Amino acid sequence: MRAYNFSAGPAILPEEVLKEVQSELLDYQNSGMSIMEMSHRGKEYSAVHEETISNIIDLLNIPSEYSVLFMTGGASTQFALAPMNLLGKNQVADYTNSGSWATKAIKEAKLIGDVNIVADCSKDIPTRVPNYEECNISKNATYLHLTSNETISGAQWKDFPDSDSPLVVDMSSDILSRPLDISKFGIIYAGAQKNLGPAGITLVIIKNELAESHPEDLPNIFRYKTYIDNNSLFNTVPTFPVYVLCLVTRWIKNNGGLSAMHQLNQKKANKLYEAIDCTDFYSGTAVKECRSDMNITWRIKNENLESLFIEEASKENLKTLKGHRSVGGIRASVYNAFPENGVDALISFMKNFENKYG
Ligand code: PMP
Repeated sequence: MRAYNFSAGPAILPEEVLKEVQSELLDYQNSGMSIMEMSHRGKEYSAVHEETISNIIDLLNIPSEYSVLFMTGGASTQFALAPMNLLGKNQVADYTNSGSWATKAIKEAKLIGDVNIVADCSKDIPTRVPNYEECNISKNATYLHLTSNETISGAQWKDFPDSDSPLVVDMSSDILSRPLDISKFGIIYAGAQKNLGPAGITLVIIKNELAESHPEDLPNIFRYKTYIDNNSLFNTVPTFPVYVLCLVTRWIKNNGGLSAMHQLNQKKANKLYEAIDCTDFYSGTAVKECRSDMNITWRIKNENLESLFIEEASKENLKTLKGHRSVGGIRASVYNAFPENGVDALISFMKNFENKYG
């Protein structure tokens, strides 16, 4: 039996996708080989690579002056690569600090160059992301960095600012969950293991001109330009994760694209927030305007009951609801692939739990 898997990542994948992977795992399209046993330059994998890029371009309506890249090292590597490529001497980068992930991005950027923290609400309770209006933007920043969805605190940017400097955004936990106007962004990066596929690749969408100004002595493998010029095939791309991403993007397209994903994501999240708000027994962690559609975080007023909640939920097949180890509480991650009936099952468990212990 498949679990209702609320894991924050690596996270649930669409069941149809997993079944398709299973059905062609040993023999990919009558080749007698698994896709993961084939050359990353052969015709079968090349077709997968190209389809994945083209699906992402279609889904996000990406303009032609951008490139779609597959990189490695997770979003954590992007925390370093973005400033390594963009932030030169005598330049400054603006960063918003919205929580744990933004804090990590800032820490890395500070190793490379000058960082200006334009707003810091990382310690606010209830949790939130800054308003653009409160950001103390520099006059000539090389870029402005945001974390679109703080996976741990459950706070999300609902709109993106029209920023004068290029926006560099960590979208690890909400990429492909909603339509975007890509022309607002300079770089978007996301580790795959939440909304995209298995861990092992990082999706990067970059406005090509931003890849031109890297320092001369930056090794090739760390340059965005190298990935653009080589269609992400400078070295061996993680072929299997790209293949799964191909199937996931196909699944999204077949299920109505990003508008449909967004509608369903909002419906699932709103149901859960209503269940939290309709009683004093539970209390939401993030301020209402910033509540994430992806990671719903809350506490039980009597915090002593939280571990029992997680334990009893698990017995009812509602798995991995424990909040991040750094903050505790309860977190339900309900990415694109998480089914609505799993949300309904959690809500009915929450009501029963309150009746029993409230
Ligand atoms: N940013 C965000 C918003 C995340 O949620 C995560 C992982 N949970 C990371 C960055 C780090 O990603 P990775 O483990 O792929 O380096």
